[in-house]
Amino acid sequence: MAPKNILLTGSAGFVGSHLTERFLADGHTVIGVDNYISGQPANTALFANHPNFKFIQADVSEGIPYKAAAFDGQTLDFVLHFASPASPPHYQQFPIKTLMVGAQGTQNALELAHAHGATFLLASTSEVYGDPQVHPQPESYWGHVNPNGLRSCYDEAKRYAEAITFAYHRHHGVDTRVIRIFNTYGPRMRPDDGRVVTNLVMQALAGGPLTVYGDGQQTRSFQYVTDLVGGIVALMGLPESEAVHGPVNLGNPDEYTILEFAQVIRELIEPGLEIIHEPLPADDPRQRKPDISRARELLGWAPGVDLRAGLTRTVESFRQQVLQA
Ligand code: NAD
Ligand code: UDP
Repeated sequence: MAPKNILLTGSAGFVGSHLTERFLADGHTVIGVDNYISGQPANTALFANHPNFKFIQADVSEGIPYKAAAFDGQTLDFVLHFASPASPPHYQQFPIKTLMVGAQGTQNALELAHAHGATFLLASTSEVYGDPQVHPQPESYWGHVNPNGLRSCYDEAKRYAEAITFAYHRHHGVDTRVIRIFNTYGPRMRPDDGRVVTNLVMQALAGGPLTVYGDGQQTRSFQYVTDLVGGIVALMGLPESEAVHGPVNLGNPDEYTILEFAQVIRELIEPGLEIIHEPLPADDPRQRKPDISRARELLGWAPGVDLRAGLTRTVESFRQQVLQA
């Protein structure tokens, strides 16, 4: 892709920081927007001295204060909406803000894309499938979501976000793309975000025990973050004439029970560590595995980093963080 101007909401988050790194390396300009509700100022600081990186601290649910005049008159080519608390403890701590960033935040980002004639890309989630009754999950599956349970602030916000994205495409002709991201991990996750990867890695580095919720027979499929970034870049690279506006799953189909996952972490860090069981949270999906046929056919994309390789890199980065603390 020739150099583009990309506005990225959620730039200070885990995925946002990896996208920013890749876009800058590819010669694009990145305007990051974040309010740090679940992100880290350190992720903004990483790029603060880069000539093609600009940052706006703002709550995108209240508006996105991007004024081209303040940025050398630059028109945006892409608006990527990644802002949203994403870990269950975070979104359950901020349920209303999570709903608002999925609803009003998405609309504000769509309006900006519409005004600039930019391509809009929404970070949706495998959570739109809820506790799925179809396995693995293809994009054609409509999902099985509890509309008022503990996870609904996130699941339903993303389902609404998809709906309004398609409305802007159909009604205003905005070039929209939607990705459904499955569990993704890697360096620069917040160590205290409460997700299974960070919890177990941090617990193992501290000498255990490792907490497995429920019997640990629920499954997840874990994708290393650079694989996700590769899929996003491929989807952005499709010209509008070839673009598919329907959702595209991006995930790694290698499925593990959470107990198996804990055993892999233990093997990589300290084989003797204890695994303990804690209560399973309400509405915790029993299984999750992407059908990635669409991404394979449309983008020629498939994940390339297996769990042990990705976890080894992740553990190393957390080990450095712990040593520096
Ligand atoms: P994250 O919490 O690390 O990053 C989200 C970022 O959005 C944070 O920096 C946060 O401060 C910012 N943010 C939230 N609300 C905001 C608001 N109103 N205004 C401005 N900034 C706001 O999470 P992540 O894992 O990097 O997830 C990024 C996106 O990808 C999210 O939209 C998430 O739903 C989606 N996603 C992630 C995963 C995953 O496994 N990591 C899976 C599915 C979907
Ligand atoms: N989990 C766990 N121990 C932990 C944290 C999470 O067993 O310390 C489980 C959680 O109940 C879920 C799975 O791991 O079944 C993945 O949880 P996570 O919060 O990472 O993401 P989710 O896929 O549920 O959104």
